[in-house]
Amino acid sequence: NTKVPSDIQIAQHAKMKDICDIAKECGILEDELELYGKYKAKISLNILDRLKDKKDGKLVLVTAITPTPAGEGKSTTTVGLGQALNKIGKKAIIALREPSLGPVFGVKGGAAGGGYAQVVPMEDINLHFTGDMHAITAANNLVSAAMDNSIHQGNPLNIDTRQIVWKRVLDMNDRALREVVVGLGGKANGFVRQDGFTITVASEVMAVLCLSDNLMDLKNRLGKIIVAYNMDGQPVTVKDLKVDGAMLLLLKDAIKPNLVQTLENTPALIHGGPFANIAHGCNSIIATKLGLKLADYLVTEAGFGADLGAEKFLDIKCRYGDLKPSAVVIVATIRALKMHGGTAKGELSKENLDTLNKGFENLAKQIENIRKFGVPVMVGINRFAMDTEAEIQFLLRKCKEYGVEAALNEVWEKGGEGGIEMAEKLISLIEHEKSCYKPIYETEASISDKIGTIVKEIYGGSGVKFSAKAIKEMKRLEELGMDKLPICMAKTQYSLSDNPQLLGAPKGFEITVNEIRVSAGAGFIVCLTGDIMTMPGLPKVPAAELIDIDENGMVTGLF
Ligand code: ADP
Repeated sequence: NTKVPSDIQIAQHAKMKDICDIAKECGILEDELELYGKYKAKISLNILDRLKDKKDGKLVLVTAITPTPAGEGKSTTTVGLGQALNKIGKKAIIALREPSLGPVFGVKGGAAGGGYAQVVPMEDINLHFTGDMHAITAANNLVSAAMDNSIHQGNPLNIDTRQIVWKRVLDMNDRALREVVVGLGGKANGFVRQDGFTITVASEVMAVLCLSDNLMDLKNRLGKIIVAYNMDGQPVTVKDLKVDGAMLLLLKDAIKPNLVQTLENTPALIHGGPFANIAHGCNSIIATKLGLKLADYLVTEAGFGADLGAEKFLDIKCRYGDLKPSAVVIVATIRALKMHGGTAKGELSKENLDTLNKGFENLAKQIENIRKFGVPVMVGINRFAMDTEAEIQFLLRKCKEYGVEAALNEVWEKGGEGGIEMAEKLISLIEHEKSCYKPIYETEASISDKIGTIVKEIYGGSGVKFSAKAIKEMKRLEELGMDKLPICMAKTQYSLSDNPQLLGAPKGFEITVNEIRVSAGAGFIVCLTGDIMTMPGLPKVPAAELIDIDENGMVTGLF
C-alpha cells in the first residue's frame, strides 16, 4: 500500500506523551515508576501488592491462523485493538513480548506492530530497550561460567561432561556459534568440551522470568533449572551450583514490567519475549497480571498460529498464572487463507474465491480448537491492500455461516479507527458469551498421553511416533518424578502438522517426536518435532545491511 509510509517513518512522527502522564492515567503512582528516559519506565513490583484486592479486567488473547513467513499481523492487531478499545471509551492496556535483536537484524524485522498500530519509541523497543535481554544473557552465561569453573576446580558435583544440557546464549542470529568447543588452550583454561550457543530468547532463563509470579518464585524456579546430569544420572541444578542468588540479583530489574505507549498513547506493557518454539511464546505473567489490575481490558498476544501460540498460552501460561481469558481474537488474512487453499505464492495478489473457500478450513480448525478450551472466539480479518471487496464479503459470509463473529480489521492502515467494529464486536462477545476456560489436558496424565491429546485434539493428527531417544527421556523423567508438568510443543508454525508443506487443515497425519527435554525451572516438558532452530542464522541479505543512523540521529531501515 503506497499511501502508508514505512513503519519507522510513522513511528518517528508519533506524538508521544511523557511516560509519567501515561502512568498516571492508568493509575500507577509516581513512587512505583522507575524512569528510563522520558518515554520508557519500569514498574516496581510493589504495585501488585497495592492493587491485590482490585478486581481484574478482562483478558483478551490475539492469535492467528497458520501463518505465512511474513506474519499475519498479530502484534499489529493487538496494538490496534488496544487503540480501538480506548477510542470507544474503554480502558484498555496491551501487553506484548520484547523483540529480540536476531529478527531485527535478520529477516523478519522488529516486533512492535506495524503501520498505524505500533508501540513507541520503536527504535528503543527493538534495540536495547531497558536492558532486559542483556540481564537475561548475563544470568544465563553466569551459569555456564560457574559450571565450567566447578568442573575445573575438581568437579565436586561429579558432573558428567557428556551430559551437559546447558548452553551459552547471545541475542543475535549467529549460526557460527551453534556448535563450539570451549576450554581450548591448555590446563589453565579448564576442560575441553563441546558447547553451543542459543539465542537469548530461546533460553530457559527467559521462560522462567516470564512464568514467575514474583521475585521469590523467580529464585525458586531459577534454582530448579537442570544444567547437567552427574555420573549417577541424577540432575545437577543451578541451586547445586549455588548461583541462583546471583542470577536473581542480575534479574532484579528485568523482572519489572516495562511501560511504553502506542502511537495513540494507549499504555503498553512490553515484558519478556520467550521463543514460541522451544518455549511458550508469550509476554510475562507479571505484566499480564499487572495489566489486568490497571485496565478493564488487557489485550495480549502469543507467538505463531493458534495451534501453537494459543495452545501454549492456554495450557501453560494461564495454568501457571491462574489466568482466566475472556475471549480470543483470531487474526486471519485473505492472502494466507488463499495459500492454504492452494494458491501459489506468486499468485496471491489475484482474486480467487475458490482457494479462499478451500483455505477457510484452516481458520475453521483454529476456531474449533479455541472453543475446545471453552473460550469465546471471534475473527479479525487483517485487511491488506491487495484484498478485493468480493473476497472480503465472501470471507465475512463464510464466518457467519460457520457461526463465528468476524470483523474487518484495518488497524494497520487506519490505527484505532480501523478497529472500532472489531472492538465493539469483541465487547459484545465478552458480554454475551461466558468463558468456561479449561486447559485441554490434565498435567497428571502421562507425557505421551498429554502429547497425544494435543496432537489429536488441536492438530487434527491421528497419532504420535516417538523416537527411541524420546522414549528413553520420557522414562527418565518418569523415574525422576518430573513427568507431571505441562507440555511445550516445538513444532513448525507453518502447518497444523509437523510438515511445513501440509497446508490447510490436514488429517490422518502422524507427528514424530524426536526429542523430549525438561525445562524444570520454567516448569514444562519440551517436545521437539522436526528441526527446531534455537540459534537462527542471518539470510543472504540481512536487514542489518539496510539499517543506519545519520548525523542528526535519524534512524532508517528498521521495520
Ligand atoms: P505477527 O505478530 O503475526 O508476526 P506483525 O503484526 O508483526 O505479525 O506483522 C508482520 C508484518 O506485516 C509487519 O511488518 C507489519 O507492519 C505488516 N502488516 C501487518 N498487517 C498489515 C496490513 N494489513 N497491510 C500491510 N502490512 C501489514
